[in-house]
Order: sequence, then C-alpha cells, then structure tokens
Amino acid sequence: MAAEKVRALSKKQLETLRQKLLAEKHSLVFAELTDNISLSLPEGSDEVEQSITDYQNSHLLRFRNREVFYTKKIEGALKKFEVNEYGMCNECGSWIKFERLLARPTAEMCIQCKEEAEREESSSFFGRQSKSLGKTVDLTGMLA
Ligand SMILES: [Zn+2]
Repeated sequence: MAAEKVRALSKKQLETLRQKLLAEKHSLVFAELTDNISLSLPEGSDEVEQSITDYQNSHLLRFRNREVFYTKKIEGALKKFEVNEYGMCNECGSWIKFERLLARPTAEMCIQCKEEAEREESSSFFGRQSKSLGKTVDLTGMLA
C-alpha cells in the first residue's frame, strides 16, 4: 500500500494547519452567533412574523446542518493535535501529504485510501446519497 513514503509533518507545517483549522472554526462560530441574533424571536410577534421566522428557521437549519457537521470535523481534527495523531490516515496509518491537508485540513485519509473509499461509495446507493449531501467546494482540492 505504501507506494510513496510521505514524511511526517514538521512542527511548522503542523502549526500552519492548526491555525487554519482554528480560523475556520472561529468563522463558523461567528456565523452561528450572528444567526442566533437574527433568529431570536421578539416577544408578542404576530402570526405573519411567526411564519416568516419559521420559514427562515427551517431554511437556516438545513444550512446549519452542514456547518455543524463541518465544525465537528474541525474539532475532531484539533483533538488529534493533542494526541499527536494529526495528519495520520485513519485507514492505513501513514502520513497525509501536507499539500493535501493544506487544501483540506480536516482530511482524515490519505489520498490513496480516499480514492479507494470513493470508489466504494459510488458503487453503493448510500454512497451516492452522501456524496450529493456532502458536495463541498474543495472537492477538487481533495483529488489534487
Ligand atoms: Zn491511507
């Protein structure tokens, strides 16, 4: 499986990635705070306002689910720093390339294992489903 030996990340590279994760987490938390302000229901609002708020809430909730999912991924990645396992592939235990982590700091698999998993995913119904749900902007970065 180890066709290509990837070196462990340097302290400097690790710090770069940690800062990136922290910055992403911060921006997500901030988005959530501003959401909550606009979502707070004023006392004694009438029915029209209520239904608008309901609509906005359901709309935001769907949007939020992805954020929550991503925030969890970020937190999971940050936890790995504490146990010195950040950058390690969940599947085969080899190091994930710095370039890949830079494009996708929450990556949990090396590119070989990821490609393998995606091949399996695309051959199953659930895989296709989760693929459309998890359609992210950095899909190209993942495959780079
Ligand atoms: Zn791997």
